[in-house]
Amino acid sequence: MENRELDPRFMYAQRLDAKDDLAAFRNAFLFAEPDLIYMDGNSLGRLPRRVIHRVQKAVELGWGRDLIRGWNTDWYEAPIRVGEKIAQLVGASPQQVTVSDSTSVNLFKLVMAALAMRQERNVIVTDDLNFPSDLYVLQGCIRMLGEHHCLHLVRSADGITIDQQTLLESIDERTALVTLSHVTFKSGFLHDAASVTERAHQAGALVLWDLSHSVGVVPVELDHWGADLAVGCTYKYLNGGPGAPAFLYVRHDLQDKAPSPIWGWFGHRTPFAFDLDYDPPTAITRFLVGTPPILSLLAMEAALEPLLKAGITRVHEKAKRLTSYLVDLTDVVLSPLGFELGSPRDPAKRGAHVSLRHENAYQINRALIEEMSVLPDFREPDNIRLGLSPLYTSYTDIWIAIDHIRQVVVEKRFERYSNKRLPVS
Ligand SMILES: *Cc1c(COP(=O)(O)O)cnc(C)c1O
Repeated sequence: MENRELDPRFMYAQRLDAKDDLAAFRNAFLFAEPDLIYMDGNSLGRLPRRVIHRVQKAVELGWGRDLIRGWNTDWYEAPIRVGEKIAQLVGASPQQVTVSDSTSVNLFKLVMAALAMRQERNVIVTDDLNFPSDLYVLQGCIRMLGEHHCLHLVRSADGITIDQQTLLESIDERTALVTLSHVTFKSGFLHDAASVTERAHQAGALVLWDLSHSVGVVPVELDHWGADLAVGCTYKYLNGGPGAPAFLYVRHDLQDKAPSPIWGWFGHRTPFAFDLDYDPPTAITRFLVGTPPILSLLAMEAALEPLLKAGITRVHEKAKRLTSYLVDLTDVVLSPLGFELGSPRDPAKRGAHVSLRHENAYQINRALIEEMSVLPDFREPDNIRLGLSPLYTSYTDIWIAIDHIRQVVVEKRFERYSNKRLPVS
């Protein structure tokens, strides 16, 4: 918009930024394209500047000069060292978190461990807002174990929320495991983790939380909830970079009972003794498998610093303010144009991304990317998903994004784009 600077709503957004106590953290990130409005921090977080130097050092001095000696410098302990930093973000006391593999693989390992610890039970409870990869992993585990388990999929009535009562009532004495995304990937619905964990434990079931869309924006209190197991992703709000390894949590008192289904040498008590027989330690490291991706791990470690410095309480406060601002603008500017909110209205019931539904969502999303320098993502069937990352998303970014969405619809720019889906949206 040409006279943006004079628009009172734009000026209001700028005032909100001026009052924002986290605004300075934006400088900790690289803005290679200053005009790009990045609304995908929940899919791939921006690059923290300090990572550039850290990776250069790891490559030139670690790999280039130290070579194999690097293992005794800072590589071998990295999964545990970085796990302890992530532990601070998920409310875990030491020695319960490590970094390994991808979220999907970690989920597989912990689901298999949980089912091995509840052999007399045969139901897995989850919901239909869970991330598809999580559901596929569960289906695969059931197949692998000979189809003795069944998946109880709690259905969402509105595609946005899960009715808490229905969920709690679906957990009973046949339930081996309850596993859910703490914040759901599409609508951003936030489960009441403490209540679900409590109910599962009353029924004698184990609970496994997928924290991929909540870690780094929503307070997570694994120890306080009494959670048994958890996994999560580090390339979203933790800004760890594409393909950064994921983390996993196993509560202290389960570490001697929970068996890893993949017996690799990094999960052995003494990997470098080269024993011929598997012997796992009573420690979180029993869930490691093979050689970790050191460069990605060190990059991710450096990426955590701004978040640890800001603190999750302040980040969450800003997340609620940002999403509420986005919802308010949507009500005023976009709802007359056929948009509906695809996320919970109550900020206490959502994470930091918001979905906007529209019958032409796919085409609008294409026009935003191709013509407007706005990068959201599209999620089937009709969601434009806007991920707000409190360390670097500004109120002005949100205002511009909403104004550009308005323009794409009012000027019918979306009509130039096909509804045919590209491979990655
Ligand atoms: C992003 C995400 C994943 C990612 O899994 P990968 O194995 O890293 O591809 C898994 N689960 C949830 C809930 C996610 O949001």
